[in-house]
Amino acid sequence: MLPCWSIGLLVSTIMTYSEKLKDPRWQKLRLKIFERDGWKCVVCSASDKTLEVHHMRYRSQPWDVPQKYLQTLCSQCHRDKHFKKPEPPSPDALSKQETSAIFAALIKELE
Ligand SMILES: [Zn+2]
Ligand SMILES: [Zn+2]
Repeated sequence: MLPCWSIGLLVSTIMTYSEKLKDPRWQKLRLKIFERDGWKCVVCSASDKTLEVHHMRYRSQPWDVPQKYLQTLCSQCHRDKHFKKPEPPSPDALSKQETSAIFAALIKELE
């Protein structure tokens, strides 16, 4: 379990960040990435699904991320990307359900 303060911090970070994504600078960059990737998912090439821009790196300003760290993914591949765990979870990590809920919120709010 994460301590309460860190969940609070995470929530306030999500809120601030999601506000920033309404910024025209991000909206413009997002369209550029879709155009660069040909309006299709870079993983499965689907063009008939909801497309989202995935951040491989985060900066305090979403539009400050170099374009090579941004990629177009369909909502399905995007979810897979976030739920895939590179290392086995530690015993005090969040439960899978809690982690999924947080990532689902992140994906919805951030990208
Ligand atoms: Zn895909
Ligand atoms: Zn993402």
